[in-house]
Amino acid sequence: MSNIHNFGAGPAKLPSEVFDELEEELVNFNGTGISLMETSHRSATYIKLNAEIQDVVRRLLNVPQNYKILFLQGGGQGQFAGVPLNLMSRTGTADYVITGIWSVIAAREARKYGNVRFATPQQDSYVNIPDLSTWDLDPNASYVHICDNETIDGVEYDFIPNTNGVPLVADMCSNIMSKKFDITKFGAVYGCAQKNIGTAGVTMVIVREDLLNQAMPACPSVFDWTLTAKNNSILNTPPMQAIEVMGRVLKWIERNGKLEKMEELAVKKSSMIYDYIDQSNGFYYAPVEKRFRSKMNIPFRVGPPKGDVDLENQFIEDAEKQGLIQLRGHRWNTSLRLQFGHC
Ligand code: PMP
Repeated sequence: MSNIHNFGAGPAKLPSEVFDELEEELVNFNGTGISLMETSHRSATYIKLNAEIQDVVRRLLNVPQNYKILFLQGGGQGQFAGVPLNLMSRTGTADYVITGIWSVIAAREARKYGNVRFATPQQDSYVNIPDLSTWDLDPNASYVHICDNETIDGVEYDFIPNTNGVPLVADMCSNIMSKKFDITKFGAVYGCAQKNIGTAGVTMVIVREDLLNQAMPACPSVFDWTLTAKNNSILNTPPMQAIEVMGRVLKWIERNGKLEKMEELAVKKSSMIYDYIDQSNGFYYAPVEKRFRSKMNIPFRVGPPKGDVDLENQFIEDAEKQGLIQLRGHRWNTSLRLQFGHC
């Protein structure tokens, strides 16, 4: 196994130390004699774990007390619905900044629940974040939605936009916990666990308290942030094992230099590849403008800018022989893609 290098964008690689810990506790969680999977979510064991993991999140991201940390199910796409269901009722309209495929999908889902405006012009390809001065923001919007790291297109914000008092909501599914940021500049952020902080099953939402209590009447209870907060994320049976894996990864991050170190490593690892691509005399091609290149996901082509399918297939085949696996890009985008999580 040691010669396997997994570049899958998600589900992504987890630290081996975490696996060792999980192996040890799998059938006998914390000396209880049973696994966490068989433990009641109302038990003191789980209530303690739930609090402990929320505390790690609070410490890592410096989350103030007026923000709630919620653990939900339904993945990133669940929150594409969860965000409008919880936040759009105030004015019935929301602004979406379109910088890649995931922000398009988020906007499409939100349209089911109200009026969605595109704050930036449609583009044929996504290679940058349009300059903030060109954004057409509606002061009446209930919120402004951004995708902080476009996993498929490899475009990442290097700034937090000022939305003039309209709550900013960020999809951080593929870069949460990869850098330090000021959470107080956001009304809410959300991230599914399986890319950077664990395994599929749990999605974290961090939301400012004053944005609660406005869910649409039709909002399913399991997506209702206010109900979830009131029930301390134990409204119904939580995906406890997935939450435990996430907790283990977050504690691993805390022990290994916190977010400063994760960011430093992400810059280091991604620069090695971008530099190689840039110095390849066009043999490899990375389409995204340098400033907005993702430190998490690197889409690139082999051959000309639109790629050479035969060369790319050969690249994948040869890479796999070397133990470099899951390099092929998303089915919605044919470029190859490297992912850099934490390990
Ligand atoms: N947003 C982004 C940025 C993503 O990369 C993904 C997953 N690829 C999603 C949302 C959707 O996440 P999920 O598969 O958990 O619904």
